[in-house]
Amino acid sequence: MTSKIKIGTSSCLLGQKVRFDGQHKYHWYINEILGKYFEYVPICPEAEVGMGIPRKTVRLVGPLKNPNMVEPVSGEDWTDRINKFTRSKIKSLDGLSGYLFKKGSPSCGAFRVKVYQKNGIPLANGQGLFAKQVIEAYPLLPVEEEGRLNDHKLRENFLERVFGYHRLQCLWQQRFKRGDWVKFHQDNKFLLLSHGRKHYQELGQLVAHIKDYKPSEFTSQYSKMYMEALSAKTTVKKNSDTLMHILGFLKKHLSGDAKASILREIESYRTNVHPLIVPLTLLKHYIDMHDVPYIKEQTYLNPHPYDLSLRNHV
Ligand code: SF4
Repeated sequence: MTSKIKIGTSSCLLGQKVRFDGQHKYHWYINEILGKYFEYVPICPEAEVGMGIPRKTVRLVGPLKNPNMVEPVSGEDWTDRINKFTRSKIKSLDGLSGYLFKKGSPSCGAFRVKVYQKNGIPLANGQGLFAKQVIEAYPLLPVEEEGRLNDHKLRENFLERVFGYHRLQCLWQQRFKRGDWVKFHQDNKFLLLSHGRKHYQELGQLVAHIKDYKPSEFTSQYSKMYMEALSAKTTVKKNSDTLMHILGFLKKHLSGDAKASILREIESYRTNVHPLIVPLTLLKHYIDMHDVPYIKEQTYLNPHPYDLSLRNHV
C-alpha cells in the first residue's frame, strides 16, 4: 500500500474533546494500530451543528424507524438541524472506504441505539440520525462501531470489507475494461470462496456473462454482490475448504512429505489447535517456492496487511 485509505470516524474516537461532557473517547486500536493504514476523516455532528461543548445530553424518542433527537430536560428538538447538517455532508463522504462510528450515540451509533418510547422505556435497536443517513446513502460502505472491534471475528470481517471495498474503488476509477474485471474476479476467487459458495458461484456466473451487460450495469451488480459476499462471515469450515482448494492447485509441485505436512496443519486449524495463519504461511511458502502464478496472485493470501494479525486467533 502506498497511501493511506480514507475512513470516516466519530471525532471523539480520535481523542477530540467534543463530547457532551467536554471529554473524548480516544480509542487505542483505532488510533495506534489502524492509524498506520487509515487516514481518518473526523466528523462530530453534534458539535458541528452548534450544540456546544459541553452541552446537555440528547436522546432519540418516538418511532424506531424515524425518531426525533430531543434534549430531555428542555424538550429542545435537534432533529431538523442534525438532518440538514447530514444532508450537506453526505456528498463529501464519497471517497471513503469505511466508517467507524461511536456506539450508543443518538447521532453516531450504527447499531442498537436506544430509542425512548412514551412509557419511558427504550427500544434498543435504533440508529443514530447521522449514522442512519450515511448508511442509507452508501449501502456498500463498510461500517462498524468501536465497541464491536473487540470481537476478533467482527474486526476481521470489517477490515476485510474495508480493504475489499478499497480495491473495488480503485477499479471504479479506471476506464471500464472487461479484462480488468475478469482479472479482479480471478484474483479474488479464493477470498470469495472463504466467505461462502453461494456468492462465489453467482459472481462466477455474472463474470461469465460480462459481455451481456452495459459497463455501468455490470459494475454496480458485481460491486453489490462482491460486498454482500464479503459481509458473510468466514468460518473454520469455509477456510479449511479454501485451503484444501489451494492445495489442489499445488499438489503436482509437492513431494509426499510436503503434502502430508500441509494436510497436518490444515487439520490442526480445522480442529482449533492452530490459527489460520499457520497452514496459510506453510502454503504461501510452497506457493513462493514453486512460483505458481494463478495462486500467487490470490487476494486470499494477503487480504489485509500482515501485521494487523487478523488471522492469528483460534
Ligand atoms: S459520538 Fe458523535 S456526536 Fe457524540 S461526541 Fe462523538 S462524534 Fe460527537
